[in-house]
Amino acid sequence: MKFAADKLKLIDDKRERDCPQCNEPVVMKILTAKNGLGVKNMNLYNLKSSAYCICPKCYSLFALEETAGANLVDTGNKEYLTDDKLIFLKQIPYEA
Ligand SMILES: [Zn+2]
Repeated sequence: MKFAADKLKLIDDKRERDCPQCNEPVVMKILTAKNGLGVKNMNLYNLKSSAYCICPKCYSLFALEETAGANLVDTGNKEYLTDDKLIFLKQIPYEA
């Protein structure tokens, strides 16, 4: 398996927000990818968004809406991450 992304970065959103899925106040993990996150010629979930976040409580994976995601990746400014820009993708099975 090969990732198409040039550079992956995992950053902490320092602000607490209510997770749109579990409604718990959480600090999301933000994953950003330059060049899009995907596996060889295939974008993950067919979305071009290059910023994703993961809820540390329910492990829901969200994509950030395309423009906001690109802005966040380009500037590193987490203010682009707002609740209305989050697109729920799936819940990731997690084993503690
Ligand atoms: Zn959650």
